[in-house]
Amino acid sequence: MRAKELARIVLSDSSLRKVHRKYPFRITDHIARLIHSLDDPIARQFIPSELELEEDGGVEDPLGEESLSPVPHLVHRYPDRVLWLITSRCAARCRFCTRKRLWKRRVSLTEENISRALNYIRQRRGIRDVLISGGDPLLVDEELLERVLHSLRAIKHVAIVRIGTRLPLSDPERVTREKILLLSRYQPLYVNIHVNHPRELSDSTRRVLEEMASAAIPLGSQTVLLRGINDDTETLRGLFLELLRHRVRPYYLLQMDLMRGTAHFRTPLSRGLEIMKGLRHTLSGLAIPHFIVDLPRGGGKVGLVPSAVESLRDGEVLLRNRQGGLSSYPLEVGEFDRLMKLLL
Ligand SMILES: *Cc1c(COP(=O)(O)O)cnc(C)c1O
Ligand code: SF4
Repeated sequence: MRAKELARIVLSDSSLRKVHRKYPFRITDHIARLIHSLDDPIARQFIPSELELEEDGGVEDPLGEESLSPVPHLVHRYPDRVLWLITSRCAARCRFCTRKRLWKRRVSLTEENISRALNYIRQRRGIRDVLISGGDPLLVDEELLERVLHSLRAIKHVAIVRIGTRLPLSDPERVTREKILLLSRYQPLYVNIHVNHPRELSDSTRRVLEEMASAAIPLGSQTVLLRGINDDTETLRGLFLELLRHRVRPYYLLQMDLMRGTAHFRTPLSRGLEIMKGLRHTLSGLAIPHFIVDLPRGGGKVGLVPSAVESLRDGEVLLRNRQGGLSSYPLEVGEFDRLMKLLL
């Protein structure tokens, strides 16, 4: 199928047209070609649903990013890192997006916004890591992107730059050789791709990943845990193994944020932990991402790990082992209370 045909199908439904007016439908030919049926794991990420208009207890800005923005489009939540949203455009729109609030707002790099963001970073020596995201930063005009990277690199205390993108998956043809070379000139620069299902790893996507890795760009991935789409251990195991094969290190598995109108995508916390437990011992640590909950109202990211602790007594802790039995590990004298606090 082509994007146009899909749009015709979606927009011929009056209730979906209503969703589209609030949160515009947008897809690429590349994604459309990966869709086999309207309820497959690719389609469900991109085709609107009436449920998006539900008042489901979610909020517009679940991470409280607006109140953490000292200058426009720069989110400063942690002392050593900033998140710079340099565009609100995306090649294809994920229906579960946390930043849907920006879809109809034009976030773009005006001269004023660029210099305010750069000045802010320049004046704070504690900022050692700039994460460029959006929208999709790889859709930004190359000259402008180069200017941003160049200016960041001129700031001595900025040790690393990271780019978060979905373009290698949503429209790989647009990740051109030139763009990859541009990125590779600003090392150390990490690229994190947003990928949710093994079927997103098409041949052309794999080629782009290959090219980026060969240009010595370290690659990582972020995966959103999505109900009925990828919330089973085998699907994710397959995804993480394939990513590693393409030199992409799985970085984060993300619990859905409490974004308004996305409750139908959300899994309970226990699901994510069950999956993490299922991956333990059966996959190399290299293939296992951190399971992360980004706490409401700017509380920040926390990692959740299924506990291996079975019981704690004086002198030893009992841990569930690889074979399902119990292994004892000795405690130091007086350690009990300290360990108890750390584990709970
Ligand atoms: C996620 C995020 C970061 C980066 O977090 P890491 O755990 O270092 O990947 C930085 N700033 C904000 C506001 C974020 O949401
Ligand atoms: S790629 Fe990211 S920013 Fe763009 S629509 Fe999807 S989740 Fe939102």
